[in-house]
Amino acid sequence: MDFAFDNSFHDQLEGFYAPGDPEKPSAPKLLAFNPILAARLGLCTQDAHAAELAELFSGKAMPNGAAPIALAYAGHQFGHFSPQLGDGRALLLGEIVAPDGARFDIQLKGSGPTAFSRNGDGKAAIGPVLREFLVSEAMAAMGVPTTRALAAVATGDRVQRERAHPGAVLTRVASSHIRVGTFQFFAAHFGADHVIQLSDYSIKRHFPDIADAANPHLALLDRVIGLQCALIARWLGVGFIHGVMNTDNVAISGETIDYGPCAFMDRFAVNTVFSSIDTGGRYAYGRQPQIMHWNMARFAEALLPAIHRVAPDDVEAAKALVDAIPERFRAAWHAEVRQKLGLAEGGGDDAELIDSLFGELDKHSVDFTSFFRALAMLLRGEGAMMQALLPIADAMAPWIADWWQRIEQGAANPLELADAMDAVNPLYIPRNHRVEAALEAAETGDLAPWLELLEVVRAPFDARPGLERFAEPAPADAAPYTTFCGT
Ligand code: AMP
Ligand code: MG
Repeated sequence: MDFAFDNSFHDQLEGFYAPGDPEKPSAPKLLAFNPILAARLGLCTQDAHAAELAELFSGKAMPNGAAPIALAYAGHQFGHFSPQLGDGRALLLGEIVAPDGARFDIQLKGSGPTAFSRNGDGKAAIGPVLREFLVSEAMAAMGVPTTRALAAVATGDRVQRERAHPGAVLTRVASSHIRVGTFQFFAAHFGADHVIQLSDYSIKRHFPDIADAANPHLALLDRVIGLQCALIARWLGVGFIHGVMNTDNVAISGETIDYGPCAFMDRFAVNTVFSSIDTGGRYAYGRQPQIMHWNMARFAEALLPAIHRVAPDDVEAAKALVDAIPERFRAAWHAEVRQKLGLAEGGGDDAELIDSLFGELDKHSVDFTSFFRALAMLLRGEGAMMQALLPIADAMAPWIADWWQRIEQGAANPLELADAMDAVNPLYIPRNHRVEAALEAAETGDLAPWLELLEVVRAPFDARPGLERFAEPAPADAAPYTTFCGT
């Protein structure tokens, strides 16, 4: 199979990575492949056999033109700076340019130790690999910017964690793997020249239209802030909690990256945390905008040497960009919620209606995903779904009355509006209890539940008879859900 690699990071940024080779798995077996993504990338995989794909996407066979490298990066982890992280369990095979001209990284995750592995084994267990595959595909289907999963391959080897698990390799596709932490690494260890080199490369790759800006590095900061505001608004809109928003897990492309302890919220609670290591609730659902702000301040700091080199006065402008984040985020968030609620842009002042909604949802512990579908059902004259969601009849009656009044002020046809709302409010998300059950089965060799769940979440907006159980939250008396880092 021909990949037509064009490895710009490797060729243009020598010194920003460490070359390395994947460890050869003993008995690679294809678990899952993503032919739709392969087609989008322009890869000719139609004639490839499962055995060939398993070898290619596990590190057993190296495709022509690959130049495997582990990227260097640093990062603030839970607020503390780690000067050297880097790809400890991942190797970038190379980049390919899709038929439409878009450039993508093809990366193996879990393919063995690299120069940055420290004490880690560089491997991944089947559970986290299938989890990332499933959740990233669900996010993509919901239209949330994200890295994608091209393949998952069982290695045939065991990976030792708290106990031994079957090992696996994920092939991750990203528009790049440049992170805030990449800038931090070169700012901390090398200084302005390296930061400028990385910034210039990033601009050329992601934002070529700002290359001629008066201060391109300042323009880069502006762009990345805009993308992060948009991304976190989308996360909150689908009830997604990333769980480990360290600066090394913030891609400058604006894609969601690093699906470790992430999970979706069922019943709404603004302080929801799933990750076992996030004991302080730093990365709780409702804190994600503040953390994004904090992460962007770290990005600005890392860019300062470059910004200052072009124009010392622009340091103030960078500070102003960071200070404006809460306002910018709020605009993105309100646009997101307005869509979810079927409220037309510019149809009036919705701020109070939007802000009060989340207090109500929290107070009544309403299933977040179902709530917006139930609102659309009200527009169709059907109230049963809403009644079933609320702990006591009329629990949210005043808020719903206000919303109804706002809808009536608009001229939209209620049935058309209901359909438009359903097109942005998912019905099927990867519910935690379903994900867990699917991964447990996969660990023992039964992939059927995982494959079924994948098919369900790949069409998140389309109600399908027979799939009702996938739209339901875990039973109210289920144990609290906890996630663990995908290491
Ligand atoms: P993460 O929490 O997944 O963002 O990872 C933080 C850092 O730990 C990154 O530098 C990873 O490459 C590294 N890391 C995580 N798991 C492993 C592992 N099993 N082996 C080596 N490095 C790892
Ligand atoms: Mg990471």
